[in-house]
Amino acid sequence: MTSPTPDSSRSEKLFARAQELIPGGVNSPVRAFRAVGGTPLFIKSAQGPFITDVDGRRYIDYVGSWGPMILGHADPEIVAALQAVAANGTSFGAPNELEVELAEEIVDAVPSIEMVRMVNSGTEATMSAIRLARGVTGRDKLIKFEGCYHGHADSLLVKAGSGVATLGLPDSPGIPASLAQHTLTVPFNDATAVEDLFKQHDDIAAVIVEPVVGNMGCVQPREGFLQALRELSTQHGALLICDEVMTGFRVARGGAQALYNITPDITCLGKIIGGGLPVGAYGGSRELMRNIAPTGSIYQAGTLSGNPLAMTAGLLTLRRLKDESIYAELERRSAQLCDGLSNIAADAGIKTITNRVGSMWTSFFNDGPVTNWETANRSDRELYGKFFHAMLDEGIYLAPSQFEAGFVSITHTEEIIEQTINEARNAFQGLR
Ligand SMILES: *Cc1c(COP(=O)(O)O)cnc(C)c1O
Repeated sequence: MTSPTPDSSRSEKLFARAQELIPGGVNSPVRAFRAVGGTPLFIKSAQGPFITDVDGRRYIDYVGSWGPMILGHADPEIVAALQAVAANGTSFGAPNELEVELAEEIVDAVPSIEMVRMVNSGTEATMSAIRLARGVTGRDKLIKFEGCYHGHADSLLVKAGSGVATLGLPDSPGIPASLAQHTLTVPFNDATAVEDLFKQHDDIAAVIVEPVVGNMGCVQPREGFLQALRELSTQHGALLICDEVMTGFRVARGGAQALYNITPDITCLGKIIGGGLPVGAYGGSRELMRNIAPTGSIYQAGTLSGNPLAMTAGLLTLRRLKDESIYAELERRSAQLCDGLSNIAADAGIKTITNRVGSMWTSFFNDGPVTNWETANRSDRELYGKFFHAMLDEGIYLAPSQFEAGFVSITHTEEIIEQTINEARNAFQGLR
């Protein structure tokens, strides 16, 4: 590895140090900029729609910590509350009132959830959800969709999206074949393929889906697709798990299940419900959730689960999102952004397809519709990488991968979005 030159940036210096100490210099793979090249920015601070790197450069941020920051960074009310709560202890390993209050907010917002268990990440939520589904059905098999990402638990890291797709990796070594064989995969938006699997296998415990995919870039469900999953699951005695770790409180207060009017058996949450602190949750009917220990025998636990800091950030975020006018406003500004980007790409003669649901979106460098992993994978990643760096030069921070969603927060004002579109005009022109 080459050591940084004396006048290299602080990010370069830190990255060189980090690579000696942390695999790839990062604690989550996509952060390493492998798909777009260059040195990842080390971030020093964030405020509203902006992030500032250790070299003092400020960017308009559309990553939003990969989804949680719907209220923008360092929201003053949340920061003040966190300071006050921290002064009274950061973890008790015993029940606290905030857990009950957050559970009430979640149950109020998502009708399919009557009871909810808090965990510390989205990965834990989906991992626990499939254990619950397997435990109550007494079956082992799962159906998942190619390009959907449900965290990195063994059973779910099969044909996964997000970093696995970004890095073009095969299914990860270290997952026993005897376990992976229980995970059946089919293309997203293909209900017939799901029906065929149900005909071939009578031991399917659950279908797990990102109801709006974010982890191969943003891909909407075709009309009737989610309804078909609901019907097929019920018909064959399997559970439907909606992984709303990204879409929960993002595409609507009630998540994608409210938007598309479906009722899953289990819902996984994360990201927004932690308000930027490490959180996940899974929930469903009382009858189902009572199977979890200590009322039931399906075991799942967590030392830091429900800790007062994470509960506080989540609770205040969800309380603010009770004002549903926020979603109308996010819709308007996200449309402004995506329409603007599409138009200037077309002006520059660059073929893009923009998929968007509410405030999550992806501009694919692709000339056909993107409806599943196969079509997403036809995107021109190299051109995306150039666009990414051109935007970075203009002061706009996008996801360092074609296969991730972008996010708009309530702090992305009309002016900020107008500025983004103007900078993007230069970036697109430069790609010609
Ligand atoms: C982010 C994400 C996860 C994983 O959550 P972590 O907190 O990173 O473990 C799972 N499912 C979906 C849909 C996600 O977007």
